[in-house]
Amino acid sequence: MPGTRLIDRRILERIERRPGADEPRELTVGIVGAGFGGIGMAIQLLGHGVDDLTIFEKADEVGGVWRDNTYPDAGCDVPSHLYSYSFERRADWTRRFPKQPEILEYVRSCVRKYRLEDRIRLGTEIVAAEWDADRARWTLTTSGGATHDFDVVVWGLGQLNRPKWPEIDGLDTFGGTIFHSARWNHDHDLTGERIAVIGNGASAVQFVPPVAEKAARLYQFQRSPNWFLPKPDAPFTTTDIRRFERIPGLDRLYRTRLYASFESKWIALKSGSKVADVARELSTAHITKHVPDPELRAKLIPDFPVGCKRILISDNYLQTLCRDDVEVVDDPIVRVEPDAVVTADGTRREVDTIIVATGFATTDFLAPVEISGAHGRKLEDVWADGARAYEGIAVPGFPNSFILYGPNTNLNHNSIIFMLEAQYRWILRAIGVLRNGARTVDVRAGAARRYDERIQQGLQQTAFAADCHSWYKTSSGRITNNWPGPTLRYWFDTRRFRRSDLIIDHT
Ligand code: NAP
Repeated sequence: MPGTRLIDRRILERIERRPGADEPRELTVGIVGAGFGGIGMAIQLLGHGVDDLTIFEKADEVGGVWRDNTYPDAGCDVPSHLYSYSFERRADWTRRFPKQPEILEYVRSCVRKYRLEDRIRLGTEIVAAEWDADRARWTLTTSGGATHDFDVVVWGLGQLNRPKWPEIDGLDTFGGTIFHSARWNHDHDLTGERIAVIGNGASAVQFVPPVAEKAARLYQFQRSPNWFLPKPDAPFTTTDIRRFERIPGLDRLYRTRLYASFESKWIALKSGSKVADVARELSTAHITKHVPDPELRAKLIPDFPVGCKRILISDNYLQTLCRDDVEVVDDPIVRVEPDAVVTADGTRREVDTIIVATGFATTDFLAPVEISGAHGRKLEDVWADGARAYEGIAVPGFPNSFILYGPNTNLNHNSIIFMLEAQYRWILRAIGVLRNGARTVDVRAGAARRYDERIQQGLQQTAFAADCHSWYKTSSGRITNNWPGPTLRYWFDTRRFRRSDLIIDHT
């Protein structure tokens, strides 16, 4: 696994110094969002001597998606040892694929260990950001109207932070209980109820099995099916954990092996590759093995390529769909009535509760923050045809402003933490340039355009461009979320930090 010794001070030494520059100047940095992205960035900045930083978090707790998604059996599809910072590894993960409480506790423990508490402003939503070219500073405005000035802003809002509700006639007239999977209603007891689940993505696949256990009847409404692969999850034994703790380098070796194994799966996402055919066969075999009924199986096998939308991994969802008290409904929902969900064939299914599992407003990125950059240009206007950013991090005309997990940096085959760490490194270098005397760092419009063209061309060679519904695309079909290649390519690209692509102003 490529070296990510980000906390290592030698990285600072490598940051280019302007000839004759004085000691690094003190910079103020505002980080928006206290999820995985923002917390890791803060740790890195502190590790590199940038002390004057503030993290704004609109919720009352850190943790991002791992704070918000508390539905039954919530967890991650990436193994624990890989879904954690390379500079903050743990030997004592309790299972191969971590569950939400353990991930949230990991983030909290990072906050405690690096004493970030005093730097985090919880319950503080940033609603606007304005660049002042004369002072070379950003002003962040909170929902309460307070303003805070910074030399640099880092956006750590993530791609999956705003639950998306479907537009279904009558949904607001439903008389029973209704909630979104990302805002689970833990006060409501589902025992013995008739339950409709709208949406069958990564979230539904995890909570449907435990909910079906409680329900009298569960209707899984499916707009389109998914490709599935097995989830080789299991708890670590105390012997495993002791080995990780006692054998020097074992956890690092294990992590590297996981990384390599996940990275090799990239090739299955290339359209027309032989490996894609193999993945399709494996997934078809997996579905066939767990769904003996041919009529149900026919509903569940997609007609689009593997990887067009997220491949789901599960060892209990397909089995749950075979239960007598569970029905997969693939007839489109036409309306919701106060006590029922009605489909196009006219069937009324009476339900007590509707669980909306329709995902997130993923293509909006920094919305709804109103961001104005140089010459008062609004980011929403710049992104009117879809979000785009150089290396997924920087947008021309928005100097000293950097995005984590930004446009075209999402993955379907490896850990997003690896991408975040590549972004930390790039941002640390940009900040290093500023600390060593530059006033602003902006990206050249031409470089950003060429970068975007390369990414979009690359994406056309992938399964993401095939014909299916996915949260990777805007309504016009532009793929704004995914990275088109192996993560190593991104690591290499960001590591090069091409100064010729940047406008570095020393005036
Ligand atoms: P999602 O993957 O976007 O799935 C949304 C589901 O709702 C899809 O089945 C979609 O159908 C359906 N849907 C959307 N709009 C609809 C409408 N108007 N009418 C009917 N159905 C509609 O959302 P998610 O399951 O919350 O997961 C989001 C992402 O979060 C995942 O892809 C993953 O990146 C992350 N996540 C990860 C894990 C994990 O690591 N295990 C767990 C949960 C979430 P179509 O398929 O037809 O679009």
